[in-house]
Amino acid sequence: MSDAPATPPDAAEVAAFRDKVLAKLTYSVGKDPEHAVDHDWFEAIALATRDHLVDRWMAHTRATYAQQRKRVYYLSLEFLIGRLLLDSLSNLGLLDIARSALHDLDVDLERIRTLEADAALGNGGLGRLAACFMESMATLGLAAHGYGIRYEHGLFRQTIVDGRQMEQTETWLDFGNPWEFERPETSYLIGFGGSVSSATNSDGEVRQFWHWAEGIRANAYDTPIAGWRGKAVNTLRLWRARAESDFHLERFNAGDHIGAVAEEARAESISRVLYPADSTEAGQELRLRQEYFFVSASLQDLLRRHLKQHGEVESLPQYAAIQLNDTHPAIAVAELMRLLVDVHDLPWERAWTTTVATLAYTNHTLLPEALETWPVGLMERLLPRHMQIIYLINAYHIDALRARDLHDFDLLRAVSLIEEDNGRRVRMGNLAFLGSHSVNGVSGLHTELMRSTVFSQLHALYPERINNKTNGITFRRWLYQTNPALTALLVEAAGPQLLDDPQQYLSAIEAFANKASFRKRFAAQRRQKKLELAQLVEERLAISINPDALFDVHIKRIHEYKRQLLNLLHTVALYQAMRAEPATTWVPRVKIFAGKAAASYHQAKLIIKLANDIARTINADPTLRGQLKLVFLPNYNVSLAEAIIPAADLSEQISTAGLEASGTSNMKFALNGALTIGTLDGANVEMAERIGQEHMFIFGMTAAQVQARKRADAFSAQQSVADSARLHEVLQAIRNGVFSPDEPSRYTALVDNLIAYDNFFVCADFEAYWAAQQRVSDYWQTPDQWWRSAVLNTARAGWFSSDRTISEYAREIWQVMD
Ligand SMILES: *Cc1c(COP(=O)(O)O)cnc(C)c1O
Repeated sequence: MSDAPATPPDAAEVAAFRDKVLAKLTYSVGKDPEHAVDHDWFEAIALATRDHLVDRWMAHTRATYAQQRKRVYYLSLEFLIGRLLLDSLSNLGLLDIARSALHDLDVDLERIRTLEADAALGNGGLGRLAACFMESMATLGLAAHGYGIRYEHGLFRQTIVDGRQMEQTETWLDFGNPWEFERPETSYLIGFGGSVSSATNSDGEVRQFWHWAEGIRANAYDTPIAGWRGKAVNTLRLWRARAESDFHLERFNAGDHIGAVAEEARAESISRVLYPADSTEAGQELRLRQEYFFVSASLQDLLRRHLKQHGEVESLPQYAAIQLNDTHPAIAVAELMRLLVDVHDLPWERAWTTTVATLAYTNHTLLPEALETWPVGLMERLLPRHMQIIYLINAYHIDALRARDLHDFDLLRAVSLIEEDNGRRVRMGNLAFLGSHSVNGVSGLHTELMRSTVFSQLHALYPERINNKTNGITFRRWLYQTNPALTALLVEAAGPQLLDDPQQYLSAIEAFANKASFRKRFAAQRRQKKLELAQLVEERLAISINPDALFDVHIKRIHEYKRQLLNLLHTVALYQAMRAEPATTWVPRVKIFAGKAAASYHQAKLIIKLANDIARTINADPTLRGQLKLVFLPNYNVSLAEAIIPAADLSEQISTAGLEASGTSNMKFALNGALTIGTLDGANVEMAERIGQEHMFIFGMTAAQVQARKRADAFSAQQSVADSARLHEVLQAIRNGVFSPDEPSRYTALVDNLIAYDNFFVCADFEAYWAAQQRVSDYWQTPDQWWRSAVLNTARAGWFSSDRTISEYAREIWQVMD
């Protein structure tokens, strides 16, 4: 675990691991050590590690069957996993053993581990949450399965060319994937299109038959996910789409070669690419096909497992809890009803009770553009039987309301599954809400806003259903693996039990915040990480940055609501202030940005260009004497986050209040001892409660103030600019092309739009943000205070462990823990 293990690893275990790696290299990779290249070594090490995983995986699986454990199924269209080698070695307690074994072979684990592809089967926070949850579920020993799609291409690789984002196809599978097991025998047929007919059976019951027109095969690929100390290893099962082979061969043999190949391509396109939009929905047919594909395969798979063990379907809620990660898998409501009613012959009402008792839904966003709806016409064409089922659910639902004497037209319209306003569309959020016994938000504020805004009417009808589960992060990845030096320091201070129960033992670090010697060591490990990041910046961007400057970090998806623009305006304001007083000594700062913009999100891409334009100008300006630099690191992903977060002094969490559901990078930074500058949004609110506002830099409008201004409509962005000479000057410089002399009008529309509408309250919050940044600079100049607060951020971050989040889900939603 630590850089210098307290006790050297057992020599016999080291020798055994070394022999295993050599055997894998020889017999699985097929290479002689003499001729092995680095990637061969990576593969051999991963395969050796996987053997250790498999032993515990089988033991855990056997135990869950023997004990008839209730299983948790986590359905998510995204899993933002990152690399797994260090994760697996560390959780299995093999890290020091592997390091010594490889040292004997003259192989450097630190170099080899960077060769692993970063599995980016997700866009951002939602997908990373799913990955953290998988690890925590294994750590807590739950019998849990993740279900998703094995995208051939994960999130695009971002390069920056001439300051602009370019998207390149991501190819994580090019060198194979040593972690996964293909399961050719686990395969299901997924239907699309066709028609529905009804017939009366011998008992006089009317039955529906779906004659789908197109069948696509879902093939399973399993990845073992180890919990801490390898106590449990669970399965992440990802589905790959294949053409229904017999059908396709028939056409091929009949001479329709092109048609047969096209059909194969059409089938396989379902698992070809991840949709690269975060918080906005593409709303395309292929997306709906992806959603139904993985939901149907997963439900068929878990029903098969249930039936094999328990013989009948109605006991499903007793033995299975299915969590829907956002509305992406919401079609599960209709699909489970179809399977129970049409395939397993359950009467409608009993099927409905079973469905609601099994499913639970997590909402991740209130942004209107992200609330999924599907055109009724598309649903009827692609999933005709499901559309019937949705109509029937809706009819029973509306009837039940009328029976309760609820006839108000506006109420019925708001809670209906069908939206009638913009062409008829199915509301997946309402479907997920009705079909689930639990509907949870992901932070206290977000859950309150769910109750008072999007789901207010449904909440009034089902007041028990909405509950909160504030997000968390796994400390194994975001502290132990990312920051071994800090971990070693914490363990030295609080004892080794900290590793097994950081939630409890991290608070023991509080006492050390007042010890100058501890603060010094805390700061020293940060400086080392800053040196490493400075080196990375030098290598990738050829920009030199001062490791003693304040590292001010803003890394996340680029989105208007996350307000990277506000940070850029501050950067320009600081730049102008420094140029106005060149002789003054300023707190040296490095503004560090990273993040991808959805390929079709013009405004977000323009913000990336602006960041790079500002960087080019200020980094070259000699009057600043290096006191201010801006770097935009390309291709933000889990591995880059792991390199940046331990080196951050300041964490930017400055979304427009009410729009960030939770945030999780805010937690990663605090755990690693960065101080947060942020709005009272998402989980920042709970961080302020637990860490203490005095150890953060909270500023700006609250969610209630934002709502009030929107309602009053009396809000004038021009006024914010008129009230701030500083903001006015910043906007004029950007508008007039100071940072884009090659194209002076590049940002005219952006600035004009900001002044006229300020949809995300960037101008409205500017002065408050400036003042908060001044407090940051002042605080930085009293290092005793700064580092005391930094230590307290770490010491008080324990509650933000995903182990805490998962134990709440397990007790309150899934009923799998006491
Ligand atoms: C944690 C994480 C996120 C989520 O970041 P937010 O700032 O909470 O939006 C996104 N991407 C990656 C790679 C992450 O590690």
